[in-house]
Amino acid sequence: MAIDLHSHSTASDGSAEPSALVRLAVEQGLTTLALTDHDTQEGIEEARAATAGTDLELIAGTELSLEYDAGGMHLLVLWLEPGSGPLQSRLATLRQWRNRRNEQIVAALTELGMPMTIDEVTEEAGSGSVGRPHIAAVMMAKGYVESIEEAFEHWLAAGKPAYWSRPRLRPEEAIQLALESGGVPILAHPHTLNINRAAEMADLLTELCKAGLVGLEAIYSSYRQHERDGYADLARRFGLVPSGGSDYHGSYKPGLDLGRGYGDLVVPDSVLDDLRRHAANP
Ligand code: AMP
Ligand code: ZN
Ligand code: FE
Ligand code: FE
Repeated sequence: MAIDLHSHSTASDGSAEPSALVRLAVEQGLTTLALTDHDTQEGIEEARAATAGTDLELIAGTELSLEYDAGGMHLLVLWLEPGSGPLQSRLATLRQWRNRRNEQIVAALTELGMPMTIDEVTEEAGSGSVGRPHIAAVMMAKGYVESIEEAFEHWLAAGKPAYWSRPRLRPEEAIQLALESGGVPILAHPHTLNINRAAEMADLLTELCKAGLVGLEAIYSSYRQHERDGYADLARRFGLVPSGGSDYHGSYKPGLDLGRGYGDLVVPDSVLDDLRRHAANP
């Protein structure tokens, strides 16, 4: 038995179509997969249809980028059903904010001597949510960089020459919207927050728990065992469920496998049971 509670498809910046992702999950022997595309649920219907005749449980979700100055704060929302709802109806606006930001990045890169058009980015992305990994892929195709990682490291990451921020939901607001929509909010990959001091992390988690946070992603592909243990301890101290997932993106994050991360990812079923208790429609 194996589960994976964080993954991306072509509906955002993953390279596998939702149905292909489901087939991959079945091949890997997963029993539960959460599809958590950035700011969209466009892939859920196709993914769910693809589970027919299999034993795979598909959890509908999304991943949101939140307003936070010190680093990147992402929120996974699981058991969020596509359709109408307080959070669901905000997703289109979040994608519009992305698109405006993407145009600024494309203009900046062009200015920096790496000409490209937004149409090229849109073509790379297909329908759905368009993000920096798609821009990075166009940069690679044009020979400006040799890898997606290099595109981020030199140009696209926060503080780099072609970085542009975009309006995002505030953490408390996003958590509240998730809860009002029947979803289960989980703070994703906490290392990207860029918090080094334990007291600062404690203050932040105190705030987020007050807002209704349910889980903390302690088991993540790039984490060593001691980091997973450390974050799981932290989660327990705040009454949070130590969640886990691969953050699979296919070719946009090479070397990372669905369900097993870099080979040693194991998310226990107990995590799923503990999270499920918080879902409105589990
Ligand atoms: P965006 O949502 O468009 O701002 O792009 C952020 C996404 O890019 C993240 O969710 C990751 O999927 C991906 N990403 C961020 N940093 C890196 C990196 N250093 N290398 C590869 N992908 C990255
Ligand atoms: Zn992504
Ligand atoms: Fe993320
Ligand atoms: Fe992700």
